Amino acid sequence: VIYREKVQGSLKETHLEVRTSSERPKADKDSGAIVVKNLYLACDPYNLHLIKFSTQLGSPVPGYGVARVLESGHPNFKKGDLVWGITRWEEYSLITTPETCFKIEHTDVPLSYYTGLLGMPSMTAYAGFFEVCSPKKGDTVFISAASGAVGQLVGQFAKLFGCYVVGSAGSKEKNKFGFDDAFNYKEELDLDAALKRCFPEGIDIYFDNVGGKMLDAVLLNMKLHGRITLCGMISQYNLEQPEGIHNLMNLILKRVRMEGFVVTDYYHLYPKFLETALPQIKEGKIVYMEDIAEGLENGPSALVRVFSGRNFGKQVVVVSRE
Ligand code: NDP
Repeated sequence: VIYREKVQGSLKETHLEVRTSSERPKADKDSGAIVVKNLYLACDPYNLHLIKFSTQLGSPVPGYGVARVLESGHPNFKKGDLVWGITRWEEYSLITTPETCFKIEHTDVPLSYYTGLLGMPSMTAYAGFFEVCSPKKGDTVFISAASGAVGQLVGQFAKLFGCYVVGSAGSKEKNKFGFDDAFNYKEELDLDAALKRCFPEGIDIYFDNVGGKMLDAVLLNMKLHGRITLCGMISQYNLEQPEGIHNLMNLILKRVRMEGFVVTDYYHLYPKFLETALPQIKEGKIVYMEDIAEGLENGPSALVRVFSGRNFGKQVVVVSRE
């Protein structure tokens, strides 16, 4: 899947193009590189960032995926190993920095989970919630884009931790994750009123996935010493001019801490995360939704879906199941 036309404003399918080529990459012995067969590709909002800021026109779309090693010129990888990490949207990829990939050790769960539940989005939820939000049992927690790959997990981690959790999503049906309450932000004429209805006493923690108007409304509803974790701003990514935020003064009046974070700074916690999350997943304590698109040729439409909320859970593209 090739980046064909420069993205200005919203990502459209026509910015990408599916091309066929008979070339297959090779990894020379001791080159430090590996050749992988891509199995599952993640449709992350991050793909758009990579496309816009680090992909040349005519190159394959980069992004997170799950792959099988076919050839290795790196001492830490051998043929047959399964990995997750940054790859490209093609059947076979040459990965020149395989040290950035994680080896998959647990294969008694669906491999596609390593694009979400056991991969980057889940690490984002885990690190963002436990390391940045400073949660306490009983805290009131609000999550936007609550049905997305990150949001659905933040909410469930927060519930298991003993918090009161409310999520907002683009339809009522998307609230399938056992939160205490939820609302459809598209149906609320007044976001401030919706938040006051769900949090009459105010919000201790806001896990922000969307930015924009929702962040502005949340600022009016934070409790004293609340925490706002800035994870993402998906409502702004397709705008040429980001919306202004008007209610920042509330940070001062309420002594609120607002902090951004990037998940890659926390990848050293991945083993600890697996230790916590794997048993919870196997015991069925965590519900997880995937939205599967079959075939690389359906990749462009699957990626565009994420930016209009037409995905229901983690959007995955299946390149090959073996
Ligand atoms: P998903 O692709 O799983 O979900 C995205 C969801 O966002 C959509 O399904 C849609 O659901 C919602 N959405 C889309 N457009 C808008 C809009 N204009 N306004 C409000 N909601 C919208 O995303 P992830 O869960 O993977 O990512 C969530 C956020 O986390 C993103 O902002 C992403 O950039 C960020 N992120 C940050 C990381 C970090 O290191 N800081 C790492 C990974 C992700 P709905 O039906 O509710 O509209």
